Amino acid sequence: MFNRFFRCVLLTTLLCMVSIAPGFAAKSPVIDVTSVRLGLHKDKTRFVLEMSEKPDVSVFLLAEPYRIVIDLPELNWQADDSAPRQKGVIQNYRYGLFKKHTSRVVLDVDGPVRILRSVILPPAAGKPYRFFIDIQRTDQASFMTAVRERRKEALAKEVAMAPQPPVQTPSGKKHIVIIDAGHGGIDPGAIGQSGVFEKIITLGVAQKLNGILAKNPAYHPIMTRNDDTFLSLRERVAVARGAGADLFISIHADSISRPDFRGATVYTLSETASDDEAAEIAHTANRSDLIGGVDLSAQDDTVQGILIDLAQRETMNFSVKVAEMIIPEIAKSGMKTRGRSHRFAGFRVLKAPDVPSVLVELGYLSNREDEKILKSQNGQTRLAQAIANAIAGYFDAVDP
Ligand SMILES: [Zn+2]
Repeated sequence: MFNRFFRCVLLTTLLCMVSIAPGFAAKSPVIDVTSVRLGLHKDKTRFVLEMSEKPDVSVFLLAEPYRIVIDLPELNWQADDSAPRQKGVIQNYRYGLFKKHTSRVVLDVDGPVRILRSVILPPAAGKPYRFFIDIQRTDQASFMTAVRERRKEALAKEVAMAPQPPVQTPSGKKHIVIIDAGHGGIDPGAIGQSGVFEKIITLGVAQKLNGILAKNPAYHPIMTRNDDTFLSLRERVAVARGAGADLFISIHADSISRPDFRGATVYTLSETASDDEAAEIAHTANRSDLIGGVDLSAQDDTVQGILIDLAQRETMNFSVKVAEMIIPEIAKSGMKTRGRSHRFAGFRVLKAPDVPSVLVELGYLSNREDEKILKSQNGQTRLAQAIANAIAGYFDAVDP
């Protein structure tokens, strides 16, 4: 099943509207969700959440596939959600932490819809706060108009909230290394044979790598995430560029329908993928935004795209150097490496134009032996050390 194969890289590659919260003064409360209901009425489908507090809610539509996205404060989901998740236009729903202070509920709908009403009711008759939306079918043109309007708003917001440079500039000539733990929050990444989530593995290895590098005065490591939070691709790249990074390492683990497949692969960016498989992975990955429910339809405009492309050609060679150093180190760590372990693909996560970037697929969670290594503390430490050795080798080579 191709789906599973792509699952791992799927969410590394999201483009979405960035809405970085500008430092909340007070800490946001976590709101309990105590009940969830779907209701079918003559001319509409209703989705209801009962909650312990009055939430701030943002509702919008996304296309391809048709979805309704509901952003809420951080939720503590206590509702029984074992009842059927399909009713009327709603085919399914899912939820999870989208980023710090924001949980996201995504409703998959079966066609173009419009939001008739979005309402918060105060507590009454023994019921707590209730949030509901009424959804009605509509035509494709009206749906797309609503999607486009939302996209314009999101882009305007993004421009207003361009990435900030880091508060503290690291002193001296330390090499700034961005460690990017793949996936997180609402996006679990690949799921292993034993049910382990890729997002847990990637964070474990990232934290160990961070620990190793932090001990060496030559490095200033920065993690894109250090907890179970969803980060869009754009936010990940923004961390690298805002910090003036010298190197960007994105950490992942793969999954495939063939359980005998093993080993690590290291990807660098190329405009043309090295083979059909890599091309297909990148193509699918770059179009997929299913789990996080983010909008990747807003593309680079052409001029910007060309400028980025020019800058990337300079850094691509450096990325290749890193990749070629990581593979033998991983092989020494005990994890297998695949036949052609270094591949090129058009991953958006690697497109910070001025920062050499690699994406490491540490191994296959769909393979029992690989999964055992990836899950174990010892295995994670060995992999982190392997990457750290490669980083040292790289900087020795390019900046002796
Ligand atoms: Zn992944």
